Amino acid sequence: MTGIEKTLKGIKDGNITKDGLTFLLSIPTREEFKPVFDESALVCRRHFGDKVYIRGIIEFSNYCRKSCLYCGINKANRKVGRYRMTLEEILEAASYMKKCGSLTAVLQSGEDPGYDKVVLEAVKRIHEDLNMAITLSIGEREPAVYREFIKAGADRYLLRIETTDHDLFRRLHPDDDLEYRKKCLITLKKLGYEVGTGIMVGLPGQSVGAIADDLLYFIKLNPAMVGIGPFLAHQDTPLRNHKNTDIFPTLKTLALIRLILPKSNLPATTAMGTIAPDGRQQALKIGANVIMPNFTPSKYRESYKLYDNKICISEEYGKCAGCTTAIAKAAGKRIVKSKGYSKNT
Ligand code: SAH
Repeated sequence: MTGIEKTLKGIKDGNITKDGLTFLLSIPTREEFKPVFDESALVCRRHFGDKVYIRGIIEFSNYCRKSCLYCGINKANRKVGRYRMTLEEILEAASYMKKCGSLTAVLQSGEDPGYDKVVLEAVKRIHEDLNMAITLSIGEREPAVYREFIKAGADRYLLRIETTDHDLFRRLHPDDDLEYRKKCLITLKKLGYEVGTGIMVGLPGQSVGAIADDLLYFIKLNPAMVGIGPFLAHQDTPLRNHKNTDIFPTLKTLALIRLILPKSNLPATTAMGTIAPDGRQQALKIGANVIMPNFTPSKYRESYKLYDNKICISEEYGKCAGCTTAIAKAAGKRIVKSKGYSKNT
């Protein structure tokens, strides 16, 4: 057996170590990594067949109280025009995405707690009137606020840990604390949310060992969903000069997450589609089972650029739904109309 085969077998037998993960993540070429991609594709097929769940996303506010170094809408960026969608606009977008086949609405924003009252009302209405599953991706809050949202009808919460490397986390998040973010995830789980977390791959100063540690953290947390994507520089942030990686390190990380959390929902993210034109197809082929078309009204999209060259900015409203069907097909899969609740229970 080769080293790769041995490590893969170890993972299958539940013997998952930092050394093993670091070894696999360090594999330099796609040819050498192929046995891992083959295995992750197989594991995905075993649990999800050719199904791809669709979760439409509405980026309803770009106001943010945080200054994360990588993010294009961080509060220090004065060049970005700030907006908040009205309650009516949010409901209209949710209703439209339902018509297009998405039974889940992902409500995402900068960290904008000043708008929670409106979001709470939106959650109630989307839950009661539209009978859709709701994912919130709005950052850190006190436990009482998370409780209010789940009572109003929210089902899922996406809060990426971003990195579990303490030093790197501190450098990138001047106003955040890694331990507090971890606590938020535990609180969300305890409250009964389907919890999603994730990281960016290729952050400045991020080592392969740090990604291996992130994966071990995922095993411990056992989330329903893990969203990852490549870090992409934004011209109006302190990390503007960082050179983007290619998609391969992100795909390796995705494949390993499929192996260590076989039943988790793994999206082919917009950032993957930005770093490579067929990035989302590639991700679906090797283990992703979710896609998140953009249902933010066209006039706001230019102002929700977390990174440069984000795709679908000038796209006609509603076109994303047709586009995701084509992406799934190109990966040999098909979109299913389902709320897509987690199998990882
Ligand atoms: N305010 C919310 C939502 C953040 S935006 C929160 O704190 O959870 C969603 C995700 O976009 C982030 O979690 C981050 O991982 C990703 N992101 C932000 N800036 C990025 C960049 N420059 N490149 C790639 N991904 C980025």
